[in-house]
Amino acid sequence: GNTPSRHFIEQAIDKDLAEGVYDHVCTRFPPEPNGFLHIGHAKSILLNYGMAKEYNGKFNMRFDDTNPTKERSEFMDSIIEDVKWLGADYEDRLFHASDYFDEMYENAVKLIKKGKAYVSELTAEQMREYRGTLTEPGKDDPNRNRSVEENLKLFEDMKNGKVEDGAMTLRAKIDMSSPNINMRDPIIYRVAHMTHARTQDKWCIYPMYDYAHPIEDAIEGITHSLCTLEFEDHRPLYDWVKEECGYKNPPRQIEFAKLYLNNVVTGKRYIKRLVEDGIVDGWDDPRLVTIAALRRRGFTPESIKMFVDMCGISKAQSTAEYAMLEYCIREDLKLKAKRMLAVLNPVKLIIDNYPENETEYLEIENNKEVPEMGTRKIPFGKELYIEREDFMEEPPKKYFRLFPGNEVRLMNAYFVTCTGCDKDENGNVIAVHCTYDPETKSGSGFNARKVKGTIHWVSAKEAVNAEVRLYENIIDEEKGVYNEDGSLNLNPNSITVIKDAKLEPELADAVSYDKFQFVRNGFFCVDSKDSKPGAPVFNRIVSLKSSFVL
Ligand code: ATP
Ligand code: MG
Ligand code: MG
Repeated sequence: GNTPSRHFIEQAIDKDLAEGVYDHVCTRFPPEPNGFLHIGHAKSILLNYGMAKEYNGKFNMRFDDTNPTKERSEFMDSIIEDVKWLGADYEDRLFHASDYFDEMYENAVKLIKKGKAYVSELTAEQMREYRGTLTEPGKDDPNRNRSVEENLKLFEDMKNGKVEDGAMTLRAKIDMSSPNINMRDPIIYRVAHMTHARTQDKWCIYPMYDYAHPIEDAIEGITHSLCTLEFEDHRPLYDWVKEECGYKNPPRQIEFAKLYLNNVVTGKRYIKRLVEDGIVDGWDDPRLVTIAALRRRGFTPESIKMFVDMCGISKAQSTAEYAMLEYCIREDLKLKAKRMLAVLNPVKLIIDNYPENETEYLEIENNKEVPEMGTRKIPFGKELYIEREDFMEEPPKKYFRLFPGNEVRLMNAYFVTCTGCDKDENGNVIAVHCTYDPETKSGSGFNARKVKGTIHWVSAKEAVNAEVRLYENIIDEEKGVYNEDGSLNLNPNSITVIKDAKLEPELADAVSYDKFQFVRNGFFCVDSKDSKPGAPVFNRIVSLKSSFVL
């Protein structure tokens, strides 16, 4: 029903179905294959796919490959991978706008015959001059009243390669004094002697976006053509094309606000620059928000869907916080990921009264909030690694971890009391010493005394050495995204590489995209680019602390 929680697009579709404007729903995602998809595109993909699912309709994947300059097949492959990964299953409904070039051409001929299109010889500069401004109407093209016969002949010359690039265009004959500049006889075809990835050299004229898009939608039987707000002013032209071309039951364009993230770079040319300058290691560098980067960082399709849903669908432009995206991945992983012991900044802890050469296997829950996830055994011995910051020789007030004389709990193991430390000649701590109390073993029911601090650890003998990468925003948030000269304001500390993190042994077998919580340190994902068999590299997806409150 029409509950208030239904967004304006659902309400519009409900109304169309109720009034019999359409008897089904068909949506599409129509990227230009000229770059990698980013978090903003995820909104469009999930909205279009979501509407098709919700109304038992169809969802088309369509490459808008009408502009041969910018298209590269590498982008098509990455777009397909991203769309599938997000779960937008288009089944066998994969289309290419270039497959409709013939019909687009026939429609243009039809428009010429109806006196609705003409061949222009204005240069790009003259075209701008004739177009007028917001306050001044445009001027008629000197060839606006060319005869139909002459237009047909010249358009055929354009098509047959007899016209140089830029020398002629085909313009729709609409209204040079329209308050909407898009309606002032827009160009619908241009000459471009270029080889197209799919149609090769068959064409040397290519349709413009505003002309091609409604035809693509109409041919595929799209009912609701969902696009972003910048196309609102183009809708009258969209409607003009579909009507003048005579499509029956034509699609309807509805615009929604783009998804923007605060202090995050999504612009293609900025990312390209970061890649070219070697500041990031590719379009999928885990610090970026391309879908490929989010996947590599360890985000899940579920977390992205949750995020997009929380942002909502509306016509009001707004920006979301990256912290909200982090909230979503924490929510998704907290009950799914195994909680592992991993020490990122290790120092040795030596238990002086523990037997030499003995290894105990202690049982630990995989996720203590989800008992069904079971338990595992982890080795424990005389020498462990703990986090360097879990020991202080001279602690401040309220420091409850290790310092000489203080007792803490080693997670899932024993209580230990700190007895001191060893230092090198520069005064750096190289090992911490303690004694343990065998009575306090975890699970034994010991409750004679309590301790305030619990720290994690990894058995030194069995520890796996691994590379772990921690990230911050690639943008220096204090100063904003751009410098005065338009360049990006980069954060010099956006990546920290730890070469000698110590992990519990099971993590040696982790493979690309495996995700874990490292207790107290956050959620981590195995890097798909730099990991080797038996030697995983981990990306921190997100820390445990949240700056976002729902
Ligand atoms: P460009 O022309 O530079 O490629 P683009 O990436 O916005 O811009 P497309 O590749 O055509 O354009 O994008 C495919 C679809 O994704 C379009 O319908 C577009 O409106 C939508 N889209 C792009 N950016 C966002 C965003 N930030 N939020 C929501 N939808 C978006
Ligand atoms: Mg575009
Ligand atoms: Mg694009």
